[in-house]
Amino acid sequence: MKKLKIAIVGGGIIGVTTGLAIQQYLESDLIEMITIISQQWTPNTTGDVSAGLIYPYLAAPDTPKQQMERILIDSIKFFDNLIQDPESSGFGLSRLTLFELFSNNDNVCLPIASDELPVIRTLTTNEIQRLFPSIQQQYQHGNLVETFIAEPSLLLPYLMDKFGKQKGQMITKHVESLVSLKNEYDLIINCTGVDARKLNDVDDSDQLRSARGQVMRVKAPWIRHGIIADQWYILPQIDSVVLGGTKQLDNYNLEPDPKIAEEIWQNCCQIMPTLKLAKKIDDYVGLRPFRRTLRIEMDNNDDHIIHNYGHGGSGVTLCWGSAIQVINLIKSKFL
Ligand SMILES: Cc1cc2nc3c(=O)[nH]c(=O)nc-3n(C[C@H](O)[C@H](O)[C@H](O)COP(=O)(O)OP(=O)(O)OC[C@H]3O[C@@H](n4cnc5c(N)ncnc54)[C@H](O)[C@@H]3O)c2cc1C
Repeated sequence: MKKLKIAIVGGGIIGVTTGLAIQQYLESDLIEMITIISQQWTPNTTGDVSAGLIYPYLAAPDTPKQQMERILIDSIKFFDNLIQDPESSGFGLSRLTLFELFSNNDNVCLPIASDELPVIRTLTTNEIQRLFPSIQQQYQHGNLVETFIAEPSLLLPYLMDKFGKQKGQMITKHVESLVSLKNEYDLIINCTGVDARKLNDVDDSDQLRSARGQVMRVKAPWIRHGIIADQWYILPQIDSVVLGGTKQLDNYNLEPDPKIAEEIWQNCCQIMPTLKLAKKIDDYVGLRPFRRTLRIEMDNNDDHIIHNYGHGGSGVTLCWGSAIQVINLIKSKFL
């Protein structure tokens, strides 16, 4: 059989992990070459704005439960293995204790319970009162979660380096349409995130929407655990802390809004008063690729095109498991 030339369009966390997974799982006698083509790379991708919390958030809520569970488990296994590497802190991976607080009991839905997923237990009202006296009136329900932070601005350079050392090619270029690559490649994988809306031959703008996220980074090295309280969150990184955030549907504005920055600051300081001494680094904005269902499938009209986008606020969390779904599609078509 003729060996495949594969193009992945998009060099964010989804495209790069898809490239690595192909290198890892598909035999070299099936693949001649894998090329990632992207107009932007880290530090200018959506993932670079994110804290890289490994936990589902705004994650394509209508995706079939079984598929989401498989993707989550495969992704958590990936991070479980990666953190065994003694150098993992250098590429932005650390364990994180997270307090997840809710003002409304209806929102306290534990993600799929499985001992292959992050450890989660419900917090008691007494625990919330003791741990968060400044906000205990407002937030009376919550979970304690043991998970990871995988900082994309450190993780992506590591993953790209690995992809390159394993003979993966990376080309900086804007792609107008996926079909335009068919002269050169046998299989095209679309990992363009929210910009899939702009591709000439991807008609998905009814379903794929931006969920604009604005965050602020501060220096506060004394903060060592994460908090999510409804829409506000405080997530420590290796050298900074991310304060967030917004989820504004259908908003494509990449400029930080000073009013939103002030709102984030006030709310996060209320949740964690010691933040008042933190030094601000800057404000950042990213457009989450929000879709009711993840789009990981063969194109309806062309079975030489596979889509892998629509991960909303969970692209880092779901990256590896999504890549494995793509591998399964490739195997079903070409093996
Ligand atoms: C504020 C914020 C906080 C977040 N926090 C978290 C979190 O804590 N945990 C988590 O798991 N997720 C989080 N997310 C979500 C996560 O960042 C995204 O789901 C993820 O980055 C999407 O990755 P992607 O590779 O699909 O898209 P992108 O990172 O947007 O990458 C798409 C790539 O495709 C390229 N591209 C697009 N169109 C073309 C074209 N026509 N030609 C060539 N190249 C093209 C782009 O240049 C880019 O490199 C957050 C997002 C935001 C905005």
